[in-house]
Amino acid sequence: AREVHLVRRPQGMPDPDDFALVDRDLGEPGDGEVLVANHDFSVDPYMRGRMNDVPSYVPPFRLHEAMDGRAVGEVVASNSDDVAVGDVVTTNLAWRTHGVVPAKQVQKVAAPEGVDPSAYLGVLGAPGLTAWVGLLDKAAFREGDSVFVSGAAGAVGSVVGQLAKIKGASRVVGSAGSAEKVRWLTEELGYDAAFNYKDGPVVDQLREAMPDGVDVYFDNVGADHLEAAIACANDFARIAACGAIAHYNDTAENPTPGPNNLFQIVKKRLSIQGFIVTDSIDRMRPFLDEVTPWVAEGRLKFAETVVEGIDHAVEAFRGLLRGENTGKMIVRV
Ligand code: NDP
Repeated sequence: AREVHLVRRPQGMPDPDDFALVDRDLGEPGDGEVLVANHDFSVDPYMRGRMNDVPSYVPPFRLHEAMDGRAVGEVVASNSDDVAVGDVVTTNLAWRTHGVVPAKQVQKVAAPEGVDPSAYLGVLGAPGLTAWVGLLDKAAFREGDSVFVSGAAGAVGSVVGQLAKIKGASRVVGSAGSAEKVRWLTEELGYDAAFNYKDGPVVDQLREAMPDGVDVYFDNVGADHLEAAIACANDFARIAACGAIAHYNDTAENPTPGPNNLFQIVKKRLSIQGFIVTDSIDRMRPFLDEVTPWVAEGRLKFAETVVEGIDHAVEAFRGLLRGENTGKMIVRV
C-alpha cells in the first residue's frame, strides 16, 4: 500500500515537505478483518486542525503514520463472514491506497442507480449531513426565512443553499471565491443571488444582495463573513457556526482578524450555535431518507472536484484550502 504520512506539523499553509509518501506491506487480513482497496478518499478542511498538536474535539494526527478520514473502496480480501470480497464500503482509511480494518468498522454502500459511491464522501456523507443538521436543527430554519451561506460553492455550502430553497426560504444568498463559482450557484443550484467575496468588502456585497436582512446565517468561514452576517442580521436571527476556514492557517504571528461587532448579538438578540456533525450521527438515517431521493432525481445537485492519484493527495488538500474545488474535493486513487 502507498500511504501519505504527516512528518512535520505545518506552520500556516501546509508545505509539501510536511508530508511523505510511504510504501508499506500490509500482509493478509487477520481474524475478522478485511483488506480494502480505495477508489476515492476525502480531504477536508477539519484535517488542517488535526495537523496541529493541540487538544480538540478530535485527536491530532500522529507523525510518521498514515492520516485518516473518510474513504470509499472495495473489499479485496475478507476474513469476516459479514463482509464479502467485492463489497463496496465506506471506511476511515483515507490518505492511502489500501488498508486493513476490522469488518465492524466498515459500512456497506447502497448507492442509488446512477449515483457514484463517491457521493457518500460528499452530498450523501458527512458534508451533506453537516448542511442538513446545521440548517434545520442548529439554525432552526423555518419556511420564509432568508438565508446567507458562506463557502457556498463547497461540499457543505452547496447543499445548504439548495436545502433552504427546497424548504421554502424567502431568499438564499451565497458567497464564494470566484466568478465561475458565483455563476454555478445562481445558474445551476438555484441561489437567488451570490457574490465573489474577493470583489469587495463582504458587508457591502451582502447588504446589496440581501436588502431585507438575514434571518439565518450558515457560517463556514468566520472572520469578515461572520462580521458581515452579524451586521446584516435581522432581530432574532440564528447563526449556525459550522466552520471558520478563514482562520485555519492562522499562526500566532499572523492571525486573521475576527468580527469587531459582537455587541450587536445583544442588541439584535441573535443566537449563535456552534456544532460538530459527529455529535449528530444519529441524524444520518433521517437525513439519508429525506435527501437520497432528491439526489437520485437530480433535484439536489452536487459537484465533485477529482484529483487523480495518491501522489497528488497533498496537492488536493492544499488546493482545497486555496479554493480550487467546486463542490466536494476528492482524491481518486
Ligand atoms: P469546502 O468544500 O467548502 O472547501 C473549502 C472552501 O473554503 C474552499 O473551496 C474555498 O472556496 C473556501 N475558502 C478557503 N479559504 C477561504 C477564506 N479565507 N475565506 C473564505 N472562503 C475560503 O469544504 P467543506 O464543505 O468540507 O467545509 C466547509 C466548512 O465547514 C469548513 O469551515 C469546515 O471546517 C466546516 N465543516 C464543519 C463541520 C462540523 O461538524 N462543524 C463538518 C464539515 C465541515 P472559495 O473559492 O469560495 O474561497
